[in-house]
Amino acid sequence: MPTAIRRLVACSFLLLPAALGAQGATDPRLDRFKTEIARAIDGKAKLAQQMVDQVYSFGELGMQETETSKYLTGILEQNGFKVERGVAGIPTAWVAKWGSGSPVISLGSDIDGIPQASQKPGVAGRDRMISGAPAHGEGHNSGVPLNILAALAVKDVMTREKIPGTIMLWPGVAEEQLGSKAYLVRAGVFKGVDANLFAHVSDEFGISWGDEPSLTLISALFKFTGQSAHAAGAPWRGKSALDAVMNMANAWEYHREHMELAQRSHYVITDGGDQPNVVPSTAAIWFYFRERDPERVTKMFEDAKQIGRAAAAATFTTLDTVQVIGSAWRPHFNKPIAEAMHANAVRVGMPAWDAKDQTMAKAVQRMMSQPDSGLHTTVPPLRSPEEAAKASTGTGSDDIGDVTWNVPSVTLYYPANIPGTPGHNWADAIAMATPIAHKGVVAGAKVQAMTLLDLMLQPKVVADAKRYFTDVQTKTVKYHPLMAPSDQPAIWLNEEKMARYRDQMRKFYYDPTKYDTYLQQLGITYPTIPPVP
Ligand SMILES: [Zn+2]
Repeated sequence: MPTAIRRLVACSFLLLPAALGAQGATDPRLDRFKTEIARAIDGKAKLAQQMVDQVYSFGELGMQETETSKYLTGILEQNGFKVERGVAGIPTAWVAKWGSGSPVISLGSDIDGIPQASQKPGVAGRDRMISGAPAHGEGHNSGVPLNILAALAVKDVMTREKIPGTIMLWPGVAEEQLGSKAYLVRAGVFKGVDANLFAHVSDEFGISWGDEPSLTLISALFKFTGQSAHAAGAPWRGKSALDAVMNMANAWEYHREHMELAQRSHYVITDGGDQPNVVPSTAAIWFYFRERDPERVTKMFEDAKQIGRAAAAATFTTLDTVQVIGSAWRPHFNKPIAEAMHANAVRVGMPAWDAKDQTMAKAVQRMMSQPDSGLHTTVPPLRSPEEAAKASTGTGSDDIGDVTWNVPSVTLYYPANIPGTPGHNWADAIAMATPIAHKGVVAGAKVQAMTLLDLMLQPKVVADAKRYFTDVQTKTVKYHPLMAPSDQPAIWLNEEKMARYRDQMRKFYYDPTKYDTYLQQLGITYPTIPPVP
């Protein structure tokens, strides 16, 4: 070997530890632990399937996730977590903690379902289990199971190796109503938390940093009061609250022409009176207002209040209450954590889909007149805010936003559903108690666990995440909640709907002591592809 080259080699050997030192020492055990954790999670595939199927079978709506929360906290307690229930005044919200000291890393995911989404899993065609009943038409049955698998795997390593740190799990209650996370923040649930890893179902590993392409939201219920009268006998003595509601909706549609293009707003009439021959003395309309930032969405809300008051004046009724039901900041994800998480997703790779999974996916896609490209098989690159906007096919809101502006956070989108489903729909429930969801949760849990381990073992990642949070993300933007201090969680949401269906749904709860899988309990062959009508 020529001397010059030999010297170069010698030099680079000498430089190596110094270079590593400059980046912050990587714990030499990290790589080995990640391999071990992936194997341990594979070994818990049965538990993954059980938890995913069990929560699917509960299919509970927001604020009424009683069986779901009882079940999930039960598993955590059995595994040594300390559970606090009813946090932030929300009966189905909880916090589960294990370990001690720093860092404190939290893992969250949503748990609520979608109205009228009842659907037999594994069947590529409309096949209700219970007509009108709710179900997991968003796939929220899979996220907390994923977090539990990740937490248990990391806990085992931490226990054995005496690694300090605290793992905290928490549920996204009533995410569909953006109903809980701002209240969890207000109650101080995230005080002292160093980083938060959220998990949300998707059809791929979608990991990004910066502003998410979704909108800031305020949702509010406008309640009007009038005066009842015989609608034919003495209509001149009545004042119709329904007229006020319809006036408000109509005026909003005219106003829509003059709003900025990025807004999204929509409404349903939750009270339109009792019967036609009684002039409605009460009526209510529920709006979602969405815009790019808190200032714009607040302006929308103020405009709506003015329109509501005007609608009341024009109908000689009163606008009694304007009740905030939910609110959400636009999420912003932490760059250093997203980078660590993405590297783990590349390491884990996509689930090994088999022919049945692909047949299921393609049948569902054809049923919905979408390209039948099947399930994704590659991990996309880490997305910048611009790339995330380009990859986004629509725009919603998620109250994880409020958490991301209080704690360095990233959402792990994991592949457990079929590409091309419309979202918030029964078709989104089809895959969610099948091997597609089970395999996706196992793969996602590995990524979540490895990222949790990165944060536990590499103080530099936590420090970088904090620096990004203070010096970049919140340098000029300061968080303030979108609800007023007097607003309280809408814990009454969906009470009546769940009461109507719960007894029927109970008959379909998954019994893992009798059946290997929920598909087996329901007598469904996977995949079932009905003939196209
Ligand atoms: Zn969701």
